[in-house]
Amino acid sequence: MLNIVLFGPPGAGKGTQSERLKDKYGLIHISTGDVFRALDPESDLAKLAKSYSDKGNLVPDEITIKILESEVSKFPDAKGVIYDGFPRTTAQAEALDAFLAIKGTSVTAMLSLVVSEEELKARLIARAEVSGRKDDADPAIIQNRIETYKKTTAPVAGFYKVQGKLSEIDGVGSIQDITERLFSAVDSL
Ligand code: ADP
Repeated sequence: MLNIVLFGPPGAGKGTQSERLKDKYGLIHISTGDVFRALDPESDLAKLAKSYSDKGNLVPDEITIKILESEVSKFPDAKGVIYDGFPRTTAQAEALDAFLAIKGTSVTAMLSLVVSEEELKARLIARAEVSGRKDDADPAIIQNRIETYKKTTAPVAGFYKVQGKLSEIDGVGSIQDITERLFSAVDSL
């Protein structure tokens, strides 16, 4: 099984590139952010998740891990999965390793998109125009997401680095250029 963690800060292009990787390699694409946004807005779970995400905070691990595991379990025959926006904490990375081990598989690689903070902010502000996402619209919330990334999420790269699974990809350039960089990284796995 090809299990790829597509990593990077908010606005790095994970969603866009995941779609392309999914099509090229016949994988399932699981974005925890998309899963949260797709919940029935009237449900308690959706309201709880939104109370964190609208402020640019992470949804607690316990909830996120359960959601992720139930999403993966919907695709028992998948030949591989792209994890987009998960794991975002070291506890989530440990949970993913344990979950995949039970299934007799493991994370193949983490591909980390590298983008400067200035570029990220510009992209998120531009995205707010089309996404309608509350967390894209406010510079203070964008800043909080970036700070949370630096403090809590960036260390997850170290978790895979010690396992020899981290590959950094330049995330600046045309969408197509970045896709090609990712394809060559996957082809060399
Ligand atoms: P982005 O990468 O642009 O910040 P996402 O769509 O991946 O956006 O996530 C939106 C929000 O959903 C996050 O800010 C967070 O509140 C919540 N979320 C998504 N994935 C996770 C996760 N793995 N752990 C905790 N919260 C998450």
